[in-house]
Amino acid sequence: MLHQKLFFKDLLDYSTSKSNLSKKLDVKQMPRLSEIISLDNDSSTVSISATLKLNDQLNPSISGEIIASLSLICQRCLGSLNWNETIEYSVDFIKEADPHTGKNNIDYISINDEGIILLDLLEDEVLSSLPMSIMHKNIELCENIDKLSMFLGSSDEETEKKNKPFSDLSEILGKDGN
Ligand SMILES: [Zn+2]
Repeated sequence: MLHQKLFFKDLLDYSTSKSNLSKKLDVKQMPRLSEIISLDNDSSTVSISATLKLNDQLNPSISGEIIASLSLICQRCLGSLNWNETIEYSVDFIKEADPHTGKNNIDYISINDEGIILLDLLEDEVLSSLPMSIMHKNIELCENIDKLSMFLGSSDEETEKKNKPFSDLSEILGKDGN
């Protein structure tokens, strides 16, 4: 059901009989998502639950939860970074050129003759939930931090040593002041 192309009539059929689905997905089947996760790591999982049912306008709808646990690539250190999120989604479908296009309904997808693949839709939901910039929360969590801190000139032991003469000086100045 997730992988095959569905037309409006199919969605209507599944929704009329109220279909439930819960499944662990292979991330490799989501090509756009696969591009941004670290491939040397098979720890990425996406589990979904979905209910297809008719909404108040008697149009098909899909809603449920996506539990994503992804091994993403940190944009600062290129190390892997675990991202866990539970995404709740709800999407209504309308038939293209349906005169009853619910104008108050923002989150709907118009189904034309091309049909829709639900897996693509679920992948969209995951992609749109990802943070804008994928990075470890704290630079100390980054890999190769020694190289990074040198590069960024952040305080490490060497800079502390360099700063010492100044603290000695301030001690001397302090004594003079007394
Ligand atoms: Zn990092």
